[in-house]
Amino acid sequence: MGVWRGLAGMCICVDCRWVDRCQAYHAVERQHAVPHLCAHPDIQPDQPRIHVQVLDLPDGAVGVEWDVRACASFLVDPGRWQRLRPGEPLPV
Ligand code: SF4
Repeated sequence: MGVWRGLAGMCICVDCRWVDRCQAYHAVERQHAVPHLCAHPDIQPDQPRIHVQVLDLPDGAVGVEWDVRACASFLVDPGRWQRLRPGEPLPV
C-alpha cells in the first residue's frame, strides 16, 4: 500500500477513519496540548510522516506545529474528527 499524502499545511488525520484510535494522532494531540479523542488508542499506524514546523509568535515567543502529512494507514472518512467533536473548530 502506498503512503497517502494530503495537501500542504493540512493534518490528514481529521479525515481519517482511525483518528480516535490512532497512537500517532494521540501524540500530535499531546504536542498541541489539546484534549485526547481517546485515552488509550489501540492502532499503531504504518509510516506516519509527521511534519514539524517552528513558528514565530508575538512577543518573541516560539511555537511548534505538528501535523501528519502522509500515512500508509490513512483510510478516508471525510469529517470524522468533526463528527466526534461537533461544533468545535477543526485543529490546525
Ligand atoms: S492518517 Fe495515519 S496517523 Fe493519521 S489518524 Fe489516520 S492512521 Fe493515524
